[in-house]
Amino acid sequence: NGYKTELDVPSYLETQNISIRFNQLFGRMKIIDESREEFVSNVSHELKTPLTSMKVLADSLNGQEDVPVELYKEFMLDIGNEIDRETKIINDLLSLVKMDRSAGDMNITSVNINELLELILKRLRPIAEKQHIELVLESFRPVSAEVDEVKLTLAITNLIENGIKYNKPDGWVHVSLNADHQYFYVKVEDSGIGIPEDSLEHIYERFYRVDKSHSREIGGTGLGLAITRNAILMHRGAIKVFSTEGEGTIFNVRIPLNYIAS
Ligand code: ADP
Repeated sequence: NGYKTELDVPSYLETQNISIRFNQLFGRMKIIDESREEFVSNVSHELKTPLTSMKVLADSLNGQEDVPVELYKEFMLDIGNEIDRETKIINDLLSLVKMDRSAGDMNITSVNINELLELILKRLRPIAEKQHIELVLESFRPVSAEVDEVKLTLAITNLIENGIKYNKPDGWVHVSLNADHQYFYVKVEDSGIGIPEDSLEHIYERFYRVDKSHSREIGGTGLGLAITRNAILMHRGAIKVFSTEGEGTIFNVRIPLNYIAS
């Protein structure tokens, strides 16, 4: 009836509501806590793996008398590779942490996207050639957009690198650029091994890998797509994936031509 009760005591229904809301909030805090815990435990595990290998290699050298030079060199090479791996994980983590900060960290300038893609492909061409993968760029129109050049370069580089890494011998990676009046579109398509359907919803998670040992073998950290997605979201863009196992994968990226600050 619109009148307040004399004592202004919350009704039973109101108390119920408050308690539901509190539980929801508490639940959300718990989820954040759990995912942070999971992240820290994942990081520790990933960082420990190369260290464990190095320790085993060093111990077995130390445990032997008169180590032949050849063996010594071989073990040192392996240790060097593990150091490279550790460095890559740390660098990827640093990129990710940077992206986690506020959008205020965006360094927006007007960038020629055609040139940016050409430069990325030029850098990746030697890696592609080594694995006999054909790398093709198709630009449908000149595009200039307001973006954070470093973050966008990182995002697109990861996608093309994956197209090369998870490919088949004599495969290809096609990159194309298009635009309308509001957005530009980058498509990265490969003729690779594809992603199983039940993995598609997980690929952007930190440290998620369809095949851990294969990814590790080819130098993957499981952080690449998390970095890519974050960078694209910071531009208020979107990313979509389509994949068929054994046939290949397509990543479609859409980014506004004009940066929308929050
Ligand atoms: P990684 O460092 O292992 O490559 P990413 O975060 O870049 O990690 O990718 C996560 C996982 O998604 C990869 O380990 C791989 O299993 C799968 N993946 C990503 N891109 C592709 C692709 N183009 N083709 C097939 N699988 C892919």
